[in-house]
Amino acid sequence: MPIDPQELDELVGEAVEVGRRAAAGGEPATYIPELARADPGWVAIAVNTLDGHECVAGDRGVDFTLQSVSKVFSLACQLRAGDDALWDQVQMEPSGDAFHSIVRLEEEQGRPRNPLINAGAIVVSSRLAGDDPGARIETFRDFLRDASGRGVSRFAMDEAVYLSECRTGFRNLALANYMKHFGVIEDPLQAADTYFRQCALTVNVAELARIGMFLANGGADPITRTRLLSELDNRMIVALMTTCGLYDEVGRFAVRVGIPAKSGVSGAVLGIIPGRMSIACYGPALGPLGNSLAGIAMLEVIVNRLRLSVFESR
Ligand code: GLU
Repeated sequence: MPIDPQELDELVGEAVEVGRRAAAGGEPATYIPELARADPGWVAIAVNTLDGHECVAGDRGVDFTLQSVSKVFSLACQLRAGDDALWDQVQMEPSGDAFHSIVRLEEEQGRPRNPLINAGAIVVSSRLAGDDPGARIETFRDFLRDASGRGVSRFAMDEAVYLSECRTGFRNLALANYMKHFGVIEDPLQAADTYFRQCALTVNVAELARIGMFLANGGADPITRTRLLSELDNRMIVALMTTCGLYDEVGRFAVRVGIPAKSGVSGAVLGIIPGRMSIACYGPALGPLGNSLAGIAMLEVIVNRLRLSVFESR
């Protein structure tokens, strides 16, 4: 059933109010010190429907770093480049562990559980085309620009967040070194550096909802009609978002909301309603498992009100 644009506009405004209340119970991430500077009261949402309706509400002018939401796009970038051999090094199973967990790597010979946890994303970053981290990030940025229909060009790196993670990202360096031991990546320092840079690229909610549209549309940009990914690769990414997108909160999120989504510790969450819309949320106050409280609450309002859960009988 088509969604009434006016109803959607009203609902998005209502969702922001619910998001603001939910945010009151959380705090920004502190383990990357620079992220702790975010105002926990910031809340924003943007929705882009495939039939061309856009709406934005809340603190729409705030830029934030992609953090783990970038993992979806680096995977897409690498699959677009035809890197099917990636799946020899990275599995497709949910981990049930925290985003930066190292425990399973020993049991599973350094082969990460999936590309949406840190270890898996570091493998993907290490395989982006380019001779060094700077060149690899240009490859990645180019993908983001294509995904935005060439409407967004900046995707600037937040230097302070990048340096903050370089100074404190010992767990990620440990993951990279550990995987090097098993021959899963070649250069652990460069792999981690590329990953830190991609996590520090900035967007606002409207931009994030725009670049998520191809994921809701079978791999093709519904506006420019450019194909970014094959339908099969796109389906694979959307499936992985459903099973692995919110770390060890993914089961609860499936029950509560029920859509493919990916969160990041900056407070970003990208939700995809296949065939319908892309929804970007931002709210840096996080819950105990590192996911945006406002982001989840806003998705819950929209999805449940419009009965958009992928598990809904329609
Ligand atoms: N750069 C962050 C880290 O690796 C990303 C984690 C996240 O957003 O969940 O710790």
